[in-house]
Amino acid sequence: MAQIHLAPPAMPAGKRIAVMTSGGDSPGMSGAVRAVVRLTLASGGISYAVYEGYQGLVDGGDMIKEMRWEDVRGWLSAGGTLIGTARCMAFMERAGRLTAANNMIEKGIDALIICGGDGSLTGADKFRAEWPSLMDELVSTGRRKKHEVEHHRHLNIVGLVGSIDNDLSGTDATIGCYSSLERICQSIDCIDATAFSHKRAFVIEVMGRHCGWLALMAGVSCGADFIFCPENPPSDNWQEDMCSIIKKHREMGKRKTIVVVAEGAHDRQLNAISPNMVKDLLSKKDGLALDTRVTTLGHVQRGGSPCAYDRMLATLQGVEAVKAVLDSTPDTPSPVICMVENKIVRKPLVDAIAKTKEVAANIARKDFDAALKGRDAEFEEYLEAFNITTATDKSGMLLAPEKRMRVGIIHVGAPAGGMNAATRAAVAYCLTRGHTPVGLYNGFPGLCRHHDDKPLGSVRILDWLEAETWASRGGSEIGTNRDLPGEDMETTAYCFEKYEIDALFVVGGFEAFTAVSQLRKAREKYDSMKIPMVVLPATISNNVPGTEYSIGSDTCLNALINYCDAIKQSANASRRRVFVVETQGGASGYIATIAGLAIGALAVYTPEEGINLNMIVEDIKFLKDSFAKDKGHSGTGKIILRNEKASKVYTTELIANIIRDEANGRFDARHAIPGHVQQGGIPSPMDRVRAVRFGVKSMQHLEKFAGKSKQEIADDPMSASVIGIRGARVKFSSMEKIEREETDWKDRRPKEEFWMSLIDVVDTLSGRPKECRTP
Ligand code: ATP
Repeated sequence: MAQIHLAPPAMPAGKRIAVMTSGGDSPGMSGAVRAVVRLTLASGGISYAVYEGYQGLVDGGDMIKEMRWEDVRGWLSAGGTLIGTARCMAFMERAGRLTAANNMIEKGIDALIICGGDGSLTGADKFRAEWPSLMDELVSTGRRKKHEVEHHRHLNIVGLVGSIDNDLSGTDATIGCYSSLERICQSIDCIDATAFSHKRAFVIEVMGRHCGWLALMAGVSCGADFIFCPENPPSDNWQEDMCSIIKKHREMGKRKTIVVVAEGAHDRQLNAISPNMVKDLLSKKDGLALDTRVTTLGHVQRGGSPCAYDRMLATLQGVEAVKAVLDSTPDTPSPVICMVENKIVRKPLVDAIAKTKEVAANIARKDFDAALKGRDAEFEEYLEAFNITTATDKSGMLLAPEKRMRVGIIHVGAPAGGMNAATRAAVAYCLTRGHTPVGLYNGFPGLCRHHDDKPLGSVRILDWLEAETWASRGGSEIGTNRDLPGEDMETTAYCFEKYEIDALFVVGGFEAFTAVSQLRKAREKYDSMKIPMVVLPATISNNVPGTEYSIGSDTCLNALINYCDAIKQSANASRRRVFVVETQGGASGYIATIAGLAIGALAVYTPEEGINLNMIVEDIKFLKDSFAKDKGHSGTGKIILRNEKASKVYTTELIANIIRDEANGRFDARHAIPGHVQQGGIPSPMDRVRAVRFGVKSMQHLEKFAGKSKQEIADDPMSASVIGIRGARVKFSSMEKIEREETDWKDRRPKEEFWMSLIDVVDTLSGRPKECRTP
């Protein structure tokens, strides 16, 4: 692939951009500040940080501090916000905002980037709207001369949403929400083990006064039995409903019960529902009488180092915020930087705030349908997925007998986080609709071996209770195998016929993709292959064509950044040391690049670009320069990430040795290979929830073909497809088209990789000169 190097945007000389964090702290805020500071400097501007939120703006002086490149070193891994945050009453009043405006003029600040929740962004919008009148007032009251405000007639404001609640309409994710979810899920996973051991019920309260995102996602990813969210209150008869669902789960053999309650939960009349009310019901209800405990997670949900996704989100959104400042004219409405599926977009700040307030207003007037609609589409889909995976009353959901299918579920390729969660969701969906979920154990070789009547039972109907425990498990419970059906298509076709497989759900990476491609082509010869098939991409490498995201890749990134954080700490302590870390990823540099963004790597080496001697020579010059500038600073450990297939010649160890040799004792270099640690242990919440959502969607897609003739199925290009995220949408793509147009079969990756330009962002934010990537 051609090399791209985007220069940082050129900034009008001396443009002064200030960044601030405000409202409740959230993990990733410091990473956003780092990105804003560094891109501002790289673009030729002057960077300021406003300490302690709006209070710092009102107080002025040293609270508005000029930032240098080195000031934000190591900030990506910090929890909370290193420039402080506060709730500021003075800024709620015009007098406070007037003083804040005066302080900004004092420092010559042209633009303000604010990372905070809806309150902070409301304040920002008010400030922007009032700005011209504030300028007039500063002049009329004699605090400023006319010429002093002349260059500041227009205030540039950009919002970044930093909040653990994920409560801003218009964005799928706020900076910090996935880290918070991770903390919640880690806690519930721990509670799960003790609940199982003692057959107990636990009622867990999570944060979210007006927004049930954390409660919903925790419920989906941990396999909770019941959840309470403010925007989707339970029915008026919720006490009976909840108890009946939980009773049914117990009768089906479940040993534990988990109920998740958002702190703002209420019934349809807006009467608060507290964890203790739920506890009383579960422990006192006739026929249930569960040993029930309440756990309030509290502020642990806010803290800790951000997860990989939040570091990436904070970095990319910080970069986008600076670009938005530079693009802005007096006529452009102030933007807020949002994430829609996998796409960073700018939306008008006013609209996003208005929509967010509307959700709260709709809840207050008990219009819950409208409140739910005000959240993003994915909220409703997750809710549907949760309801399907916990449904006990199937009436109204069962399909007519002629539409019910035997759905084969198979894992292909290396294990990846979320494979089991996807399978659990598919099984639950099948049972709710009357389909039969057939587990094809140990991949295609398992299926074919079974045909020899081996007694291992590698073709088995999966039952609810068995799959129910898989929500948070890593690895592959039904076993996975790399071998392709093409190795014995005859037997594979025979087995499909013998076990009456009507539809196929394939979970796995590039091998899974290849397997379905082979099965699709084999339809010409075998009628039993004329069934609908879906691939759910699951691989740490994220190299499956047809999607920008594979489940398992987020788990891998988290494992990798934890590893790199530990290595970096060691490098920091020894001072003057660089680590060359080898990542997996096959012939795709995705993992290396995104991990590079998330840890602030000095450079990433990918198979797409390869490694040449010039690159190493220039990077050594860069390292020498960088270590020279570090004198007197802490946190000087550096990391270069090298994908395992970036070069046949320049191995990870060789690069570290060359660097050490060339450094002539000025600094040290080591290499490190995390290997299979990168597959991760327990899957990340993002992989789990997306696995559930995609699992359910895949089943719904397969179901569309129920009752169709074999020929109709074979003639429909969507009968063999891949589910994936593409830009701002989740969609199914026809295998035939992707195979033909989008697949680089030789290198086992998509022809176009959306993330390639992110290597430039890694470089810009590490200060790596463009010569390093000139062949
Ligand atoms: P969180 O989501 O954690 O609550 P938030 O940004 O919504 O974060 P708030 O406490 O609502 O937190 O707001 C933070 C600060 O933003 C306030 O202390 C105040 O200084 C400013 N602010 C909020 N609302 C307004 C407003 N309507 N007008 C002016 N300033 C405001």
